Amino acid sequence: ATKDIKVLLLENVNQAGRDILTQQGYQVEFLKSSLPEDQLIEKIRDVHVIGIRSKTKLTARVLKEAKNLIVIGCFCIGTNQVDLQYAAEQGIAVFNSPFSNSRSVAELVIGEIIALARQLGDRSNEMHNGTWNKVSNKCWEIRGKTLGIIGYGHIGAQLSVLAEAMGMSVIFYDVSNLMALGTARQVETLEVLLAEADFVTCHVPELPETKGMIGQPQLELMKDGSYLINASRGTVVDIPALIHAMRSGKIAGAALDVYPNEPAGNGDYFNGDLNMWGNDLRSLKNLILTPHIGGSTEEAQSAIGVEVGQALVRYVNEGTTLGAVNLPEVTLRSLTMDEPNNARVIYIHRNIPGVLRKVNEIIGDHNVDKQMTDSRGDVAYLMADISNVDTAIIKALYESLESLSSRIMTRILY
Ligand code: NAD
Repeated sequence: ATKDIKVLLLENVNQAGRDILTQQGYQVEFLKSSLPEDQLIEKIRDVHVIGIRSKTKLTARVLKEAKNLIVIGCFCIGTNQVDLQYAAEQGIAVFNSPFSNSRSVAELVIGEIIALARQLGDRSNEMHNGTWNKVSNKCWEIRGKTLGIIGYGHIGAQLSVLAEAMGMSVIFYDVSNLMALGTARQVETLEVLLAEADFVTCHVPELPETKGMIGQPQLELMKDGSYLINASRGTVVDIPALIHAMRSGKIAGAALDVYPNEPAGNGDYFNGDLNMWGNDLRSLKNLILTPHIGGSTEEAQSAIGVEVGQALVRYVNEGTTLGAVNLPEVTLRSLTMDEPNNARVIYIHRNIPGVLRKVNEIIGDHNVDKQMTDSRGDVAYLMADISNVDTAIIKALYESLESLSSRIMTRILY
C-alpha cells in the first residue's frame, strides 16, 4: 500500500518534487543537507525510495545496506554520484532529469548573443568603474546575422527557434541527420558552419570526439570578427587557442559558462591554482565569464523536481522504467491492475539462458494479458499483467519467482 512506502529526500530536493511524493500518501522524510556515510547507511536500511542531488554518494558500500530500496531519484542532471552498475545488479532503478534545463540554457545563450554583439559586459564594467564610454564602433544588431549551432539536440533545437524569432538565420552541424526547425539549415561539415556563421555556439555532449572540437584550426576558419559561445562542456573549447584568437582580434567576443576544471563549490576560482589561464581570461575584452549557470533557474529546478518525482511515482506504483539510466526501459499500456483481481508481475533477474522459460512456467497457468521483457547488460526486466488472480495466487507466484536462481528482485503490484 502507498502509505507503507518510505521515502528519504536529502539535499533540499525541490518543493515541486516533494509535493508529488507526499500527495501519493508516501511517508516522506525530508532533510536539507546530505548525510555523512555512517548516518546515511543507518537511514537507507529502512527506506524504499531515496531522493538525492549531486553531493550524496551512493556507493556499493552504502547500497549494500539498502535492503528495502527499490529506486533512487537523482534530482539533478548527473548520475556519477551513484554506483549505477551495482544498483542495477541489486534491482534498484535510478532516474535523473537530463533535459529539464534545456530552455534555461537556450535563453542564456540568446542573452549572450546580444550582450556580445553590443559589448554589454564591457560597458557595464566601465560604468561600475565610474567611466562613461559611449561607443557604436563594432557594435551590431543581431537581426540578419547567422547563428551556427554545433549539436542540434535539446538545447540546440530550442535555441534555433528563439534565434529565428529575433531575425537571425540559423545553420547547424550535427553528427545525426535531423529535422531542421523553422527555416534553419543543416550543413554537411563543421568547417562549412565555421566559415558561414557570425556567431558559433556549442551544444554537443562531452565525448572523446568533442574534446578540443574548437581549437586553433577551427578558430582560424571562423569569420573575422565573429563570436564564440560555449555553454556545453569545458573540454569542447581549447581555452589557450581561444585566448590567442581573441588577442589577435580574429574573435570579437566570447562567452564561456563551462571550464575544463570546475571547482566543487563556490568561492575562489581564478585566483587559485586550478588553471594557468585564469588571468589571461580576466584581462580580455568582450569576454563573458559565468560559473556554469546555464541551467540554473528556479524553473529548471522545479522542472527537475516534477520530472524525477513523477518518474519515482510511476516506478513505485506501476513499475515503469521509462527514463531509467541503469535498467532496460520497460512499460505496458494496459494498467489492468486498477481493476480487482488483476496484478502486475515485475521480475528483475540476471540475463541468463532459460530464465524466461522458467518464468513462463510459473505465470503461464494464469491469464497473462500483456508481457514485456528487455535486458541491459547482465540485468533483465520482465513486466506481465495478469488477470483473475486472488491474494493466495499472488503470494504463490511471488514465492515461486523468488525461488528462481536468476532472481534479483520480484515485485507484484495489485
Ligand atoms: P543532447 O544530447 O540533446 O544534444 C546533443 C547533440 O549533439 C545531439 O543532437 C548529438 O547528435 C550531437 N552530437 C554529438 N556528438 C557530436 C559531434 N561530435 N559533432 C556534432 N554533433 C554532435 O544534449 P543537450 O541537452 O542539448 O545538451 C548539450 C550540451 O549542453 C551537453 O554537453 C550538456 O552537458 C550541456 N549542458 C550544459 C548546461 C549548463 O549549465 N551550461 C546545462 C545543460 C546541459
